[in-house]
Amino acid sequence: MDTVSGIRKGGSWLLEDTAASEVFTPERMTDEHRLMAQTTDEFVEQEVLPNLDRLEAKDWDLARALVRRCGELGLLGTNVPEAYGGLDLDKVSSLIVAERIARSASFAVTYGGQANLCILPIVLFGTEAQKQQYLPGLVSGELVGAYALSEAGSGSDALAAKTRATRQPDGSWVLTGEKMWITNGGFADVIIVFAQVDGEQFTAFIVEKRFPGVSAGKEEHKMGLHGSSTTPIVLQDAKVPAENVLGEIGKGHKVALNTLNFGRFKLGGMCIGGCRTAIADAAKYAGQRKQFGQPIAAFGAIKHKLGEMTARTYAVESLTYRTAGLIDAALAGTTHDGAAVAQAFEEYAVEASIAKVAGTEVLDYVLDENVQIHGGNGFVRDYMAERHYRDARVNRIFEGTNEINRLLIPGMLIRRALKGELPLIAAARRLQDEVLAPSTSSAGLGEEEALDEELRAAQAFKKVALMVVGTALQTYGDKLSDAQEVLSYAADIIIETYAAESAVLRARQAAASGALDPSTSLRAGPDRHEAAARTFVHDAAQRVEHAARSALAAMAEGDTLRTLLAALRRVLKVSPVNTVTLRRQLADASVARGGYILR
Ligand SMILES: Cc1cc2nc3c(=O)[nH]c(=O)nc-3n(C[C@H](O)[C@H](O)[C@H](O)COP(=O)(O)OP(=O)(O)OC[C@H]3O[C@@H](n4cnc5c(N)ncnc54)[C@H](O)[C@@H]3O)c2cc1C
Repeated sequence: MDTVSGIRKGGSWLLEDTAASEVFTPERMTDEHRLMAQTTDEFVEQEVLPNLDRLEAKDWDLARALVRRCGELGLLGTNVPEAYGGLDLDKVSSLIVAERIARSASFAVTYGGQANLCILPIVLFGTEAQKQQYLPGLVSGELVGAYALSEAGSGSDALAAKTRATRQPDGSWVLTGEKMWITNGGFADVIIVFAQVDGEQFTAFIVEKRFPGVSAGKEEHKMGLHGSSTTPIVLQDAKVPAENVLGEIGKGHKVALNTLNFGRFKLGGMCIGGCRTAIADAAKYAGQRKQFGQPIAAFGAIKHKLGEMTARTYAVESLTYRTAGLIDAALAGTTHDGAAVAQAFEEYAVEASIAKVAGTEVLDYVLDENVQIHGGNGFVRDYMAERHYRDARVNRIFEGTNEINRLLIPGMLIRRALKGELPLIAAARRLQDEVLAPSTSSAGLGEEEALDEELRAAQAFKKVALMVVGTALQTYGDKLSDAQEVLSYAADIIIETYAAESAVLRARQAAASGALDPSTSLRAGPDRHEAAARTFVHDAAQRVEHAARSALAAMAEGDTLRTLLAALRRVLKVSPVNTVTLRRQLADASVARGGYILR
């Protein structure tokens, strides 16, 4: 499939400019991509959504049947080589499936437990025999998969798991321990289980539910996702064959982390689907519900919400599709074998964490505003707004909490810089010289183009990110990991930067595409792309400023702080625009369409 060419290293966008023509955007989907979207949409609309109540009543036979239907439709094998029954498609395709399946949050989690958390680690790390034994059944949906990493005492600190694996004289293993909160636990057949070999070598195993000593505990009573099974997995002297070690003994962290890298990116994709569904729900409701003799959509306060929901969704959609394009470009010349795919996921681990944090937080914002637009009806179960609000809350908790992911974002960038893979430290030093010299003026962009002002703002955000990270490195040195609040502010700035630049580049591409690329599927006019990108960037500037001021004030005081804040003001000069009007345009168009207007 054609995506975009050219390989950019993970995180390099923070230090380099990117041309609009380089980024992958939803408008660049191919016919094959669109077919995948249509297949998934039809499946969800016709087979999942009408059955939500049965799923919520824990009809796991139905859940199994739906997993099998996913297999028949090819939705479980997008990232699996053809030799094992998969379709071996690009990552844009798997993002599209994730996005579309998310309209049913409970089933999307069941799907994710199978496709992302069980199938993928076997593709990435399985031996040939393991792939042949397990993948065809999992890809066809005959077998249901799960992933058991967490324990009652170790969630974020997953590598501290206590489950033990002891080798037997015949080479087989005995596993003892209890895993907690396992998605699909109630009816999974194949479970990726993490355990300590000899109490200290963290290792992954492929465990079948039918193995002696393996059982599921009781279903958890959850706040949401009632249609998804979540149980403990009990391993009571469970017997596991010698050949079921997944990856190397003592290298379970590689299996866990690479699986999560991909899971986070796909969770970002699922969040886009949730946002689009909620915007459609909110726009339709706002157009119909009358108060004071007019539809509530006529009120500026409601237009503000609909416009902001649209602009934030646009930004997160732009950054997630851009990331899919980056991964696909990195994989383009490879054989797509497990090692190459794992390496590509690792390369873009920062972008995957950004997609996870930005996606889950924008989704929660959108769903909260959807409840608010529904008023009292938003709080009762007759309306989907209530269910969506509850179902989404866990997204900020699993696949690495957002706190952990926030720490990872600057942490991974700095680690790469220290290893010499990313010239971040040199760039931070250059910037320091530049911004502390009073006569600094920012370089022009050459000929004027659409959204120049916003692109300049995104470039300024990059400088602010470097300024904060550089100051933090100088201030804390090798104690930086203890400065979690400052690291989290740095993460916020980096997330806003990637989101803002991705939105602007997509909107510029939209502005240019009519003339340049007639095959581009520009469903919304370029003016709408521009309105969404401009709205996002101008509010992002305020969030970036707040995070930077808070971080700098935590690291410096007196004259030093005053100098840093003056430099911040010089770098971050973003003139305000009338976002009230822009949001109103986005909102009115959403209500007229009865849904999300940028696709
Ligand atoms: C519905 C559901 C489905 C799930 N599915 C699965 C599954 O299929 N497989 C699986 O293995 N697990 C699964 N989980 C578990 C999930 O991954 C964990 O709940 C998650 O990793 C958080 O771990 P914890 O609950 O132990 O929270 P804790 O780690 O105790 O965290 C509590 C709080 O402390 C913060 N915190 C922790 N450590 C740090 C730190 N170093 N610095 C700063 N803050 C920190 C966290 O961000 C959080 O806010 C699921 C959970 C739920 C609710």
